[in-house]
Amino acid sequence: MTGHAVVIAGGGPTGLMLAGELALAGVDVAIVERRTSQALAGSRAGGLHSRTIEILEQRGIADRFLSEGQVAQVAGFAGTRLDISDFPTRHPYGLALWQTHIERILAGWVDELAVPIFRGIQVTAFAQGDSGVDVELSDGQSLRAKYLVGCDGGRSLIARPPASISPDRIPPAAI
Ligand SMILES: Cc1cc2nc3c(=O)[nH]c(=O)nc-3n(C[C@H](O)[C@H](O)[C@H](O)COP(=O)(O)OP(=O)(O)OC[C@H]3O[C@@H](n4cnc5c(N)ncnc54)[C@H](O)[C@@H]3O)c2cc1C
Repeated sequence: MTGHAVVIAGGGPTGLMLAGELALAGVDVAIVERRTSQALAGSRAGGLHSRTIEILEQRGIADRFLSEGQVAQVAGFAGTRLDISDFPTRHPYGLALWQTHIERILAGWVDELAVPIFRGIQVTAFAQGDSGVDVELSDGQSLRAKYLVGCDGGRSLIARPPASISPDRIPPAAI
């Protein structure tokens, strides 16, 4: 059984960003992602808002996204388009860029930070003990972690374990 301080279930945008943040903070983190690549069925999200670009710039990676997308005024409220071009930010605009590209760029960053991503593998169950969480994987292996983080989307196994998981297999310490 391999051990990590944090195991993240799900390598979508949330899991990838969290992994990058934790790695930068020196935390031993790994991702388990059931897809074999970052390719997505369908288009999903179509871009980034100004504040997200600011955060990516704080991490030194905004240019990777800006070089692939198209800047545009995309902010809106109640159906009204808002022009933020005079806002006091280095990025007074949104960025049109499909989610599949956003994920690919984030995955490249996470790779550079040497975060292991176990692809084509699903978290199937987990059990919390006093000192951490045992995470069962679909390939029959398991991982030991201090924390398990559910970044596994809207039908999250981690956030909402199915009734078939017995009461002693409760959600891990949430972070
Ligand atoms: C059809 C559709 C259209 C959308 N359109 C838009 C849009 O136009 N604009 C917009 O802003 N947003 C849109 N969204 C929302 C956007 O895609 C989500 O906000 C975003 O994907 C959430 O990222 P996430 O990382 O939290 O979750 P997800 O992207 O769902 O990622 C979860 C990841 O966890 C993996 N996973 C799941 N279960 C397990 C498991 N047990 N073990 C291991 N891995 C697991 C999945 O394979 C996936 O990679 C759309 C979503 C859908 C479904």
